[in-house]
Amino acid sequence: MKRVQLPPGLETVCFVLGENVYQDIPEILKTHFPGRRPWIVADENTWRAAGEAVYKVLEAPHLPYIYPAEPQLHADYGVVPLLAQQMPSDAVPVAVGGGTINDIVKRLSGEAGISYLCVPTAPSVDGYSSSGAAMTKDGLKQTLKCPAPKAIVADVGVLRASPAEMKAAGYADLFAKLPAGAEWLIADTLGIEPVRQDVWHLIQPPLKKWLSDAGNMDHIFTGLAATGYAMQLYNDSRPASGMEHLCSHVWEMEGVEASHGFKVSVGTIASAWLHEKLFSLPVEELKKLMPPPKSRQEKEAEADELLKRGVYGNAKEIAMAKFPEPAETLLRREMICANWDTLCKRVKEQLLPFEEIRTMLKKANCPTTPAEIGLVPGQFIHGIKTAQLIRKRYTLLDLLEECGIMDIMLKKLAAELGE
Ligand SMILES: [Zn+2]
Repeated sequence: MKRVQLPPGLETVCFVLGENVYQDIPEILKTHFPGRRPWIVADENTWRAAGEAVYKVLEAPHLPYIYPAEPQLHADYGVVPLLAQQMPSDAVPVAVGGGTINDIVKRLSGEAGISYLCVPTAPSVDGYSSSGAAMTKDGLKQTLKCPAPKAIVADVGVLRASPAEMKAAGYADLFAKLPAGAEWLIADTLGIEPVRQDVWHLIQPPLKKWLSDAGNMDHIFTGLAATGYAMQLYNDSRPASGMEHLCSHVWEMEGVEASHGFKVSVGTIASAWLHEKLFSLPVEELKKLMPPPKSRQEKEAEADELLKRGVYGNAKEIAMAKFPEPAETLLRREMICANWDTLCKRVKEQLLPFEEIRTMLKKANCPTTPAEIGLVPGQFIHGIKTAQLIRKRYTLLDLLEECGIMDIMLKKLAAELGE
């Protein structure tokens, strides 16, 4: 059995990753879920991929609950109470599937106050091992509170055999940790959100090694799982997500159909390019680019214009709550300029050159242009500007906004990507 060592303090206490590991499931159930009978939740595809094999090794299982393959199951909160009605009272849920099945079962288990076993069938997201379930509720995409799985059993052979698109999506989701890490370093340098070393060390030191081979499922899944643990420990998604995820959330709310990982991939391209261009500017040039700070009225009018589709929840409130008044903006600019050399150095050390990032993502079959994920002209730049409004988290977008250079930089970015 290949048990991966976990940091203390997690809700997840058992993580097995390796070849032919399902035979270990009965013992894991006895140890971590004593007295409960396993109940598999899967869909027709994941049942074929892994569910059947898991079912065969179980002792005294309940009959599995299998969703049809079509229409495709969505992580909509409405399915949770329906599934709860099907759950036997002495069951330990065993989620066999991708991110959607896992999120549904995670939330179901959380509401029922029992823990569950996660058997991922594709290395497509970092959410398997995190607390909270990403679901649509009341028309809004949100992270609903619930504990992470108590145990995860991932078979590398099953992950390897998963659809190519899902593997590429997971690679992009892991890749995003590179620019997201740069943004945490920026927030740390400016004294806004210090880097927490134990959390940082779960992901960042081995990240470039994990990303060096998109076909190495052992590395990719280890990285995605580590990200989930980092989020569990930090109680927030900061360790895993920066502006690239905020862009992806905006496009998600706008109904862009591409997978989470693919939207994140295009966000990562934008983030990597903006970091490289911005932090290669000499500070004197940066200062020359800065216009007078925006007034509250100007910001409000701009937010209204960006949010006029009305699908962004309470973004306006968040944006205005974090808006720095002009005097505050000037102070922040001083701090940015005073720390410019440190910022440039830390960001450069964290990232890879933009062209290298683009090549790596392309090679892994991840989208690197807005058109590839179905964005219409204008939607890419609009998404990046809107992403600055939707969360309090300090990202590169806030720095660009404070310096008053968002529009200049985005115009250059659009030209670079042929948008
Ligand atoms: Zn993600």
